[in-house]
Amino acid sequence: MYSERVMDHFNNPRNMGEVEDYNAEGTVGNAKCGDIMRITMRIEDEVIQDVKFKTFGCGAAVATSSMATELVKGKPVEEALKLTNSAVVEALEGLPPVKVHCSVLAEEAVKAAIEDYRKRTQ
Ligand SMILES: [Zn+2]
Repeated sequence: MYSERVMDHFNNPRNMGEVEDYNAEGTVGNAKCGDIMRITMRIEDEVIQDVKFKTFGCGAAVATSSMATELVKGKPVEEALKLTNSAVVEALEGLPPVKVHCSVLAEEAVKAAIEDYRKRTQ
């Protein structure tokens, strides 16, 4: 049902926790499986120096947040904003259709964190 890569990120999540001295924070949730995802970032010179996540939710939500942090870490903010849930799903070699909404959460959490950063630096 789940690809090997999904199982890998579920069993060994990357970048789990909270960034010390973060200057961007985004929390999003979905009603469908009750997932709550929180992403913190340290952004310097428009580059995401560090990013970590805490996810309370289903296995797919953990795997997608883990992969999403991997995809945006070290990237310029502008590039991270282009992250789509389908890019996360592709990087995970697919998700069961009923779990695709969990990957949407990962995209939303990244964008919410960057929005928060924008507000703080205005
Ligand atoms: Zn879920």
